[in-house]
Parts: sequence; structure tokens; C-alpha cells
Amino acid sequence: RAKKQGKNCFEVFSSGMRAQVNSQLQLETDLQRAISNNELHLVYQPIVDLNTENIVGFEALLRWNHPERGLVPPSEFIPVAEDAGLMVSIDWWVLTEACQQMAHWLNIYPGSTELTINVNISAHQFLQSTFCEKVNAIIQETGMKPHHLKLEITEGVILSNAPNISEQLNNLKKLGIHLAIDDFGTGYSSLSYLYAFPLDVLKVDYSFVSRMDQDNGLAIVRTIVNLGQNLNMKVVAEGVETKIQQEYLQEMGCEFAQGYLFSRPLKKESVESILTNKNLPHIPAIPVTTA
Ligand code: C2E
Ligand code: MG
Ligand code: MG
Ligand code: MG
Repeated sequence: RAKKQGKNCFEVFSSGMRAQVNSQLQLETDLQRAISNNELHLVYQPIVDLNTENIVGFEALLRWNHPERGLVPPSEFIPVAEDAGLMVSIDWWVLTEACQQMAHWLNIYPGSTELTINVNISAHQFLQSTFCEKVNAIIQETGMKPHHLKLEITEGVILSNAPNISEQLNNLKKLGIHLAIDDFGTGYSSLSYLYAFPLDVLKVDYSFVSRMDQDNGLAIVRTIVNLGQNLNMKVVAEGVETKIQQEYLQEMGCEFAQGYLFSRPLKKESVESILTNKNLPHIPAIPVTTA
């Protein structure tokens, strides 16, 4: 009986696996079509000054509106795109789109002159030997002002140990671009890269911010915030969802934050209504329609 049960279990597992593989393959095919059909778009999450709650910039985040499945989250389709070798070209599309959009906003909204845009860079993209030249070309083509652009890299890029990382980062700095280390503390890398690399912004990962109420959680966030500040980096807390988290972060001197407490990622129309109706940068980040 046990054997029979075991066999049944195996069959259930196996057909489940087959279903999963099929759906991955389907997603891959769909994704290829998505790119040519303009199903990908960006949403923009405000980054705010923690004390005034004024918007200081936005992070561009990728969205896929699948015709049948609806909104597919990046956590589902980015790994598929990576496996299929599609992610690097998507990443270049994202950077171009974000620069084009921000250059336009900077041109037409007088209240936007202090705003910056953060764009996520994947490890594969960063490791292309022509990375800096491509970034430079996009800046030229879109008319984006480089000091309004912040590229978010993860410890994964740094862990890759590519020989010319330091040179790449310095070249980006020479273009006037700012650099942020994203998801700080989650990448199993040593801190020694902080000596070598010219990073401007440290983003404290959501996983730490969300555990500030647990044993040691507060001390860990305080330590990360202090580390960033001692190295003259701007510190942004990610995923701030509660007033209590905001107060803790303010009390430890963290200057900037991003999270549902202030605003969800917004469609470009919602960003435009903020930029039209409010005279930035002196108006708080009021959540509008979510995206
Ligand atoms: P990330 O760069 O750390 O982006 C922050 C993520 O946290 C976003 O999820 C954002 O919607 C979410 N978030 C913001 N505030 C809160 C909050 O208060 N609570 C919670 N629970 N979550 C919050 P999203 O948009 O699903 O993106 C997930 C990840 O996918 C990003 O993490 C980034 O690693 C990757 N990603 C997104 N867009 C792009 C892109 O254009 N290119 C690349 N290479 N990666 C991207
Ligand atoms: Mg990011
Ligand atoms: Mg992040
Ligand atoms: Mg994160």
C-alpha cells in the first residue's frame, strides 16, 4: 500500500513539474511577443525626504501587462527573461525609456528641477564590455541630464569580480551619473568593496526595514544607516510601510525612504498629475492611483 501511495505521489509530483515547465516555456514565448507588442511598461515609485515627505525622485520599475494573465510581477518574469537571454535587451529598453521620460519631465515641469530617476541595472547588462558607451549614447540620444540619473547596482555585480568593475564605475562617475548600491546587505559579499567603489547612495533592503520590530532588527538597520552616513553616502530605506518604521528611521538619522506608506509605484499619468498640480519639490508625496 505504501508503495502504491509512493508511486501516486511520484506521478502527482511529476505532472506538477511538467505543468510548471510548460508554463515557463509558455511565459518565455509570451515574453518574446511582449517586447514587440509593447506590453512592457514602466511605473515610477516616489523616493521621499523622510522628514518633509517631499518627493526627491523616482525609481523606475518594470511591469508586464500580459493579455490573459494580467499584471505579471517582475519576480516571475525577470528570471524567465534571464534564462531566455532576453533580459539584457529589456534592460536597455528600460534605461532608454526611463531617460526619455525623465528628460521630458525635466523639460516641461518647472517644479521638477531637483528630481532624479533611479534605474535598476542587472549584472549581465553591467558586465557587457560596452556598458559605459551604451549608457553614454542613451544619455546623448534622449537629452537626459546625467546628474539626474542614478543607476542601481546590486552586490551581485560586485561579487562577479569582473576585473574592470572599478574602472566602469569611475567612468560612469565621470559622465556625471550617480551610483546606488541596491538591496544592501542581502548579497553575501564582504564590505571591502566599499573602500574601492565610488558609490553615492546606499539602499537599505526591505527585508531589514520590515524586521526592525524584531530582536536585533533595529540595531542592524541603525548600523547600516550609520555605515552609509560615515562613508558620505545618501541612505534610502526601502519598503517603509508603517509610521512606526518612519519614526525609527528618522530617529536614527536616515534621510530618505521609499515605500507603500508614502506611495505605491505610479503610472506615468499619475506622476504627471503630481508634477502638474503641485509645485515640487515643496509638496508632500500624496499617494495617487496605484500601479
Ligand atoms: P528593487 O529594485 O529592490 O525594487 C523595490 C521593490 O520593492 C519593487 O518591487 C517595489 O514595488 C517594492 N516595494 C516598494 N515599496 C514597498 C513596500 O512598502 N512594501 C513592499 N512589500 N514592497 C515594496 P517590484 O517592482 O516588484 O520589483 C522587484 C524587483 O525586480 C526589484 O527590486 C528589482 O530587483 C527588479 N526589477 C524591477 N524593475 C526592474 C528593471 O527595470 N530592471 C531590472 N534589472 N530589475 C528590475
Ligand atoms: Mg532597485
Ligand atoms: Mg531595492
Ligand atoms: Mg529590494
